[in-house]
Amino acid sequence: MFSMEHHEIVIVGAGPAGLTAAKILGEGGKDVLVLEKLPKDRIGDKVCAGGIFRHGLIYIPKFLLEKSCDSLTFHVNGWATTINTVDGEPFLYTVDRLKLGQYQMAVAEKAGATISPDSSVASLDKRCRVVSLKSGKKIRYDYLIGSDGSTSVIARGLGFYNDKAVCVEWYVRGRDEFEVIIDDALGMGVGYVFPHAGYTIVGAGTMPRFMQIGQFREVFKSWCRQHEIVLGGDMKAAPIKFNYNGFRFGDIFLVGDAASFNFTTVGEGIYQAIRSGEIAAKAIIDPTYRWKDDIEQLLIYHRLGSLMTYTYDRLPKTVRSLTLKKLFRMLSSILRMPMRDAMATHLIRMVMGS
Ligand SMILES: Cc1cc2nc3c(=O)[nH]c(=O)nc-3n(C[C@H](O)[C@H](O)[C@H](O)COP(=O)(O)OP(=O)(O)OC[C@H]3O[C@@H](n4cnc5c(N)ncnc54)[C@H](O)[C@@H]3O)c2cc1C
Repeated sequence: MFSMEHHEIVIVGAGPAGLTAAKILGEGGKDVLVLEKLPKDRIGDKVCAGGIFRHGLIYIPKFLLEKSCDSLTFHVNGWATTINTVDGEPFLYTVDRLKLGQYQMAVAEKAGATISPDSSVASLDKRCRVVSLKSGKKIRYDYLIGSDGSTSVIARGLGFYNDKAVCVEWYVRGRDEFEVIIDDALGMGVGYVFPHAGYTIVGAGTMPRFMQIGQFREVFKSWCRQHEIVLGGDMKAAPIKFNYNGFRFGDIFLVGDAASFNFTTVGEGIYQAIRSGEIAAKAIIDPTYRWKDDIEQLLIYHRLGSLMTYTYDRLPKTVRSLTLKKLFRMLSSILRMPMRDAMATHLIRMVMGS
């Protein structure tokens, strides 16, 4: 008789969230299958600046860190200021996403998880506890972890709409300092220059509702030209989902970008992905674990970012443009104060939790 493939835990998506959960569940002796649409040698590859703030270091082995940042230049409406670390330690690092993914995959496999590359999930039947692959294959689960990122099939299968910001990125050479760009011309968008080992990622992100992506790309390219950044090579684009809909739905968990744990305002999501994957795995292993407290704590940054964006979004257009100018002026004046380095550093450390 035909019997459907079954696993105790099926994880959809081998990003930082899914692979973290796979490792912990594997170590806990669980039967874990990770379904990933990418081929095995591309697992980890992702349009991402790869920035890790200090609080994320507990999850990233030192040998994966590429560049460290103890001095960050802000470009605010044509004016620039550089802030430095106050305690001598860097506050930001970069990792290569492909190397991080390949490392996490090896660790998860060693822990006993089975990774199934080239396995794109097409749909979820939550009533029958079955996921269907594009190939037509069906797999049954006891628990399902949706860690399939910003275009999550699992979130959609649960009935959620993925509201997304869009980011554009280029790989460049010859720009070796960390920079952040906040400029009226970019609307609510923010740009960044993040050096890695042997290359630098230059990119920017915005909400499509604030500026059409084509216009945004051209405005950002023009900003780069004015600042002597040569954007060679192909542009890469990727979305970031920012509407949080929940973490646990009975035997289904949404983690990482699939749930929108990211802190959209500063574009941070790797730490949140790893942490939420960890919380989901612990909740499956130990039914008495009080995961709600940990999720609430993790959501603080996401909620702060959402509050800023949604409040701003609901302002009439004229008020919005005035408010934006005021915000920039306020930021500029804070940074221009005599104590600006210490104050700005303090602010940044508050935001980055370091
Ligand atoms: C341009 C840009 C810059 C960023 N910069 C930073 C930064 O500097 N620092 C930071 O912390 N965060 C950054 N982020 C956010 C960060 O990339 C994400 O928050 C993080 O990757 C989320 O991890 P995840 O595991 O949830 O999802 P992902 O890393 O997106 O992994 C999801 C995985 O699921 C797979 N998948 C998707 N759909 C399916 C399917 N149907 N079937 C099977 N597999 C599927 C994908 O191939 C992928 O491997 C950036 C994001 C963008 C877009």
